[in-house]
Amino acid sequence: MFGTIWDDNSCAYDAVITILYNLWLNNPIYWSSAFTNIGSHIILFLDVNFHEVLNNSLTLDSVRDGFRELLCLSYRLHFRFGQFTSVDQILLYTLASHYNVLSSSTSCPHLHVVNGPEAPIKNCYVSIAGVAGNNIPLISILNNCTTECVNECGACGYQLIRTYKLITAPPILFVDTSMYAVDITTQVIVNVGGQNHMYKLHSIIYFGNYHFTCVVIDSANKMWFHDGMKGKNMYYICNLSENLNLRVFNNQVAVAITLVHIN
Ligand SMILES: [Zn+2]
Repeated sequence: MFGTIWDDNSCAYDAVITILYNLWLNNPIYWSSAFTNIGSHIILFLDVNFHEVLNNSLTLDSVRDGFRELLCLSYRLHFRFGQFTSVDQILLYTLASHYNVLSSSTSCPHLHVVNGPEAPIKNCYVSIAGVAGNNIPLISILNNCTTECVNECGACGYQLIRTYKLITAPPILFVDTSMYAVDITTQVIVNVGGQNHMYKLHSIIYFGNYHFTCVVIDSANKMWFHDGMKGKNMYYICNLSENLNLRVFNNQVAVAITLVHIN
């Protein structure tokens, strides 16, 4: 278990690449295929380069730098090399998928007919704005998550409700937890099209004091902490258990979590 060393405001990239590399390393054949199916050119770049790290032809630090450069070159308005970046944007572009993940549809609270098609979201990063509250169960973000729309119903004038629903069960899901206090559980079962799918918590990205760190859970349920400013090594914290408060760690708050589909 290892990550990258912080360099030139790289912390958001360090957290994402540390998580994705340690995940990929669990089963390179399986994850190589899963990354290929997701299909963004960013995740394809990571897959190819992770093989080089495994063969000792590249260091993970140099892959991190290439990952940064690729994002900067591809999306100039969102990424500037050397500047502080949010994990939110990195995840959004890295996890853009070729398949539909979520459906998003609007409805009237008084059941008036609302025009407009359902819009599928092609991304394995689930980030839903407008959810409010404390201790929100993780399942309610993934199953029929509702938010109020800006738009109003043409018939009654009430604000429309937008409902998000998982329509596929991808091998990996990142969930944005920065906008609401979600109750982070070690596993969650989601119903997709009438079938239950189990997801296990794999990692958590923390943010505080303008710095990102992460925690990765290994296959033996041991929790490992990574902070690029302290070097590339990961430090054992404790074993994962249900009664841990995973939302806050070292005075930092969980801004995104990674869930892995258990077959
Ligand atoms: Zn209405």
